[in-house]
Amino acid sequence: MIQLYIPLNFLGVIYREIKQSLTDLDKMFVLMDKEREVADAPGAQPLQGLAQPTVRFENVHFAYDPARPILQGVSFEIPAGKTVAVVGPSGSGKSTLARLLFRFYDIQQGRITIAGQEIRSVTQASVRQAIGIVPQDTVLFNDTVAYNIAYGRTGATQQEVEAAARAARIHDFIAATPKGYDTMVGERGLKLSGGEKQRVAIARTLLKNPPILIFDEATSALDSANERAIQAELQSAAQNKTTLLIAHRLSTVVDAHEILVMDAGRIIERGTHAQLLAQGGRYASMWALQQSDGAA
Ligand code: ATP
Repeated sequence: MIQLYIPLNFLGVIYREIKQSLTDLDKMFVLMDKEREVADAPGAQPLQGLAQPTVRFENVHFAYDPARPILQGVSFEIPAGKTVAVVGPSGSGKSTLARLLFRFYDIQQGRITIAGQEIRSVTQASVRQAIGIVPQDTVLFNDTVAYNIAYGRTGATQQEVEAAARAARIHDFIAATPKGYDTMVGERGLKLSGGEKQRVAIARTLLKNPPILIFDEATSALDSANERAIQAELQSAAQNKTTLLIAHRLSTVVDAHEILVMDAGRIIERGTHAQLLAQGGRYASMWALQQSDGAA
């Protein structure tokens, strides 16, 4: 009986380990599945001239399902080193822009270029290498904080990891935990709040140091102190990077080079914060609403 119990107990441990590994693998496969939807063109070369690339969407049409068009003739430019923000109601196609720039999917019509090169004509790997994404919901691996940050650039030193964590304003939090950077996080370890996870993602992205940044702001409500902190982190992360900011709170877009207002897959207004307020259109009423809610 005892002899039987031990192996079963042991198997239980193994089972949990395998199950957890599969959970991690599942997440990887979700990403890989998306990668399988697009393929490199024969003889595709890596992207060139990435010092400070301009990103351009030219008359982009896209549908996940041919029966239901999502983007319908979207054109905009993010000049090198500038931030363009996208706002609009849920489902208007904001995150889709990010997925297309990362080339999770190919578009049906139009062109997306980085530094003048169409992303369909260069290698996917070089496109993804050039872009850092801070997603709405960051997936943390069941590993140490250090591992989760260093994932941005394999081979990073502990000093580099710490420097990135400081810049993302998560260092003090990590340093205050008993095991510091060796603290396990994720489902089996220390649970981090949405804001803390997003800071780990910012640190990861700072370490990767890509010329292009996509920041998909979390929809979840933050208290105003947290919101100001995230905004400051975002601004330092986006400095001199060509940045697409998908925003849910208008307070984060005020300083953007250009703000695009999307509705049902089209850009219905565009301009700076001041220009859009002066226009007195959709953006101006969204702004007035957020002000009266005390959320902006
Ligand atoms: P939110 O502010 O809620 O994040 P969003 O403006 O970012 O919304 P998208 O995520 O770009 O909106 O979605 C645009 C539309 O595309 C939605 O109607 C959504 O249902 C649809 N959509 C998104 N992802 C997929 C997918 N993988 N397959 C099919 N339809 C999708």
